[in-house]
Amino acid sequence: MKALVLQDFGQMVVEELPDPAPGPGEVLIAVVATGICGSDLHGYTGENGRRAPGQVMGHESVGTVAALGPGTDGTGLTVGDTVTFNPVVVPDSAVEAYAGREQMCPDKYVIGVAQHVVSSFAQLLAVPRRNVVALPADMPVEHGALVEPVAVAVHAVARAGVQPGQSVFVAGAGPIGQSVVLALLMAGVERIVVSDVDAGRRALVEQLGARSVDPAAEPAPDQVRAAFDGPADTSIDAVGIDRTVQDCLLATRLGGAVCLVGMGAPKLALDAYRISVDEHTLVGSFTYSSADFARAAAWMGTSPPQAAALISRSVPLAEGPAAFASLARHDGTPGKVLVRLDR
Ligand SMILES: [Zn+2]
Repeated sequence: MKALVLQDFGQMVVEELPDPAPGPGEVLIAVVATGICGSDLHGYTGENGRRAPGQVMGHESVGTVAALGPGTDGTGLTVGDTVTFNPVVVPDSAVEAYAGREQMCPDKYVIGVAQHVVSSFAQLLAVPRRNVVALPADMPVEHGALVEPVAVAVHAVARAGVQPGQSVFVAGAGPIGQSVVLALLMAGVERIVVSDVDAGRRALVEQLGARSVDPAAEPAPDQVRAAFDGPADTSIDAVGIDRTVQDCLLATRLGGAVCLVGMGAPKLALDAYRISVDEHTLVGSFTYSSADFARAAAWMGTSPPQAAALISRSVPLAEGPAAFASLARHDGTPGKVLVRLDR
């Protein structure tokens, strides 16, 4: 099979690798498309220290079942089925103890992050049956690659305690912020304001049905208050730097929650009184439970009309290295870039 290998930081190559075979309890997936995540880009440049040369990354994928490993017959999958996979793998021994909070299992690994796993910027990969999630055959296949980022957003919206009908401020209109808008719509929230300095990204979230504001033009909290005729009930920070956390704290009503899902900075300077005096609840959100993932998959399976806007372009495998290089140069692509492994 062919795969996109991180040869060195800043250098991706297409290489021929041995075909994997599904082991006991595993399903072999023929990958159709894999999305390039911000974390892959940071891995590519070497910034986040979570990826290593020689690695095959990829954790936002859609494909079809190519083969069923021993013991996976009769588990509801057939060769040819359209599927995605939940990349958070919990060992058999911990499945029961961590049911509903799989992301908290200390012995988990994440496909596409774990350096020893050849992941889905490859034409084939074997995944535990438990992590394979079937998708409807009639949905636009590329939308299956959005399930993972949408699952991140579904979890963040749940962590924030968002209720239908609330007003919500989202800091950041990048791929996470865009997915958060989708998850908010899914949760029955229509009053959404998103801030971003990038005009292309603001246009994209407007297309999804959110309002957007430019924090460089006027302080974002002032613009949020003007748009909602008051503060937001809840805010979600999809960036995670000092400025955006501060914007969220100032834009949220007294007693409201701010959810931190963006990982833009490892340390933050916090305006403590905006938490204590204003009684704001600051909650963290990281990946998703398998139930969040299943909910995201079910919703994407209904072919929501907004989903297509999240995909800016898809490129064949041979153009994968160029796509990484271009995105790492901040080429202004507003949404997701998918690599087609079947082309
Ligand atoms: Zn990701």
